[in-house]
Amino acid sequence: LVGATVTIPTGDAMRDFGAALASILRAGDLVLLTGPLGAGKTTLTQGIGRGLAVRGQIVSPTFTIAREYPGPGPDLVHVDAYRLGAIEELDALDLDTSLDDSVTVIEWGEGVAEVLSEDRLEIRIARPIGTAEDEQGDARTLTLHPVGERWQDAVLPAFG
Ligand code: ADP
Ligand code: MG
Repeated sequence: LVGATVTIPTGDAMRDFGAALASILRAGDLVLLTGPLGAGKTTLTQGIGRGLAVRGQIVSPTFTIAREYPGPGPDLVHVDAYRLGAIEELDALDLDTSLDDSVTVIEWGEGVAEVLSEDRLEIRIARPIGTAEDEQGDARTLTLHPVGERWQDAVLPAFG
């Protein structure tokens, strides 16, 4: 998994990848999504939600900071950390579910310093190198940076 790179041609393929990725996710996991506005962070999260079979349509948590979606297995907690000072502030949001019982997906988590000391799966989303915004088509390149013991032996699920 370390340094694995995946190229995703379309938004639908991004959701399919998220659904496949969900098969290796379990309660307590933290997934950090980085990449500019429109990179596909929320789209990837929609796929993870589909893979976890959570209820509800996943939309950007920008104005609420966090949204939670109950599932038959782990719940999904989807966080927009843009205005979140520290990961501890999540506690103050009064979520119904505990992060230990959830898969937590964080957009804009780079600034949440406390997150960086924990086990986490960081996924960086970018446009393929050498493509300008106006000529790139829809492809995105994902690079996986697993951090911590949790991800040591993780294997990327088959996809596509
Ligand atoms: P972010 O959350 O990173 O700001 P979104 O997921 O909200 O980005 O938006 C990404 C947009 O780009 C969506 O409208 C999606 O349909 C579109 N899109 C096109 N191609 C792709 C791709 N290969 N991967 C992800 N999204 C894509
Ligand atoms: Mg988003």
